[in-house]
This record gives sequence, structure tokens and C-alpha cells, in this order.
Amino acid sequence: MGRITLDKVSKSFGEVNVIPPLDLTIEEGEFVVFVGPSGCGKSTLLRLIAGLEDVSSGQIRIDGNDATSVSPAKRGLAMVFQSYALYPHMSVRKNIAFPLRMAGLDQAEQDRRVKAAADVLNLTDYLERRPGQLSGGQRQRVAIGRAIVREPAAFLFDEPLSNLDAALRVGMRLEISELHNRLTTTMIYVTHDQVEAMTMADKIVVLQAGVIEQVGSPLELYRTPRNVFVAGFIGSPK
Ligand code: ADP
Ligand code: MG
Repeated sequence: MGRITLDKVSKSFGEVNVIPPLDLTIEEGEFVVFVGPSGCGKSTLLRLIAGLEDVSSGQIRIDGNDATSVSPAKRGLAMVFQSYALYPHMSVRKNIAFPLRMAGLDQAEQDRRVKAAADVLNLTDYLERRPGQLSGGQRQRVAIGRAIVREPAAFLFDEPLSNLDAALRVGMRLEISELHNRLTTTMIYVTHDQVEAMTMADKIVVLQAGVIEQVGSPLELYRTPRNVFVAGFIGSPK
């Protein structure tokens, strides 16, 4: 579960082509980071995979099935938003259970999944609190919990740590990597931060102006950058 392939996927907004046709394969269980400067199309690419934007052309397959026209809720993927997307008036428990309530799961199944997510994320003692009574790191974990309970084929993260302070960001990076080790679920993580990409990824996808400049492991990109852009971006002289 969690193999995602993009076949000649492109995206234009009106007359403006933001992503020329591109091919990309994300293997089951991989931690893939999309990295590139602001405005290069990282979020757009993630939103195409999530189904939050329609492709202009091409095909998206998830675990072998054509998902190009499948609604976001039915793709079996979960987007992790920044922690400020939590509902301030709801308890942690209700925030985490929210997608399950929307999907109409019965109470016992909701409770089981919330408990499992809270265990993984060390939130068991905080379930009755409201987001305002939590630290920044705990709030971010609640936002991740809301994705975990859906038991997705893949997690999609769009710069989830960008509004956290530097120390907390380092800790949360480790937590997300640890979560990936435990769940072994495909994760796609968008960032403009090279350090995040180099430390977290199994596979890095370097984007510039909607074009994939290179795909490879951190070490491959560092040792053998394909061009000056990749070399400059990853910080290895060429
Ligand atoms: P990144 O996440 O890498 O910063 P985005 O994917 O947000 O980049 O944006 C890529 C390009 O697409 C930018 O030029 C942006 O202005 C444009 N863009 C993104 N969303 C829309 C939209 N809904 N309508 C028009 N242009 C958009
Ligand atoms: Mg973005």
C-alpha cells in the first residue's frame, strides 16, 4: 500500500503552466521529500496527488488504480496540516476523531483508532485538553494524529513545521522520522528547507519552476548533483 505513480502529470492555472508534464514514482513505504525554492510548485504537486487540485493532463495511480478523478476523501491519503488548523473549541480527542466522525465510523472504532494514535504520539494524557492548553509540539502531534486515525496509504505533509521555532522544528523532524520508522507508511513531505530534506528523506525530488531537476537519495544528490542548480541547492560544490 502507498505506491503512487504520476504519468505525464501537468498543471496550469488559466493560461499559466505551473507544472509541465512530469513522471514520478513513489514506492511503498518510502519517505519522499519534495524540495525547491518558494513558488516552484511543491504544494501544487502535493495537492494534485491529494486530489485537492485537478490535473490539467496526465494520470495519477495509487496502488495500481487510476485515482486521477477520484475525490480526495476516497484516495486513501491523509494530508497533515500545520497545527494552527486544529479546532480550538474541541478537545484533543475530538480533534483527532474528527475525520472519523465525518466518515461515520461507529464510536467503538473511533475510540480504538484514537487510542492507537494517542499511544504512538504520546498524547494519551492530553486527550481531554484543548489545543490552547498544549505546547507547540503537542499541538503538531495532534495535527498528525488526525491523519494517523484515517490509516492512510500515504501521509502528505506540506511544510508542517514552518511556523514552529527552530528548536521545536528539530525535535518534530525527529518525531516524524521516528513515526515513519514505526508505521512504515509512505510519506511525502514538502519543504523549502534543504536540511530537512537531507536529514529526513529516503528519496529527494528537487524541483525548480515545476520541473524535476533530479531524484535521488540524499547521498546521491550530494555526491553527484546533475546540474548547478541541484549542486547549489544541496550545498555541494560542483
Ligand atoms: P511552492 O509550494 O513550491 O511554494 P506553489 O505550488 O504554491 O509553490 O505555487 C507554484 C506556482 O503556482 C506559483 O507561481 C503560484 O503563484 C502558482 N499557483 C499556485 N496555486 C495557484 C492558484 N490556485 N491559482 C493560480 N496560481 C497558483
Ligand atoms: Mg508551498
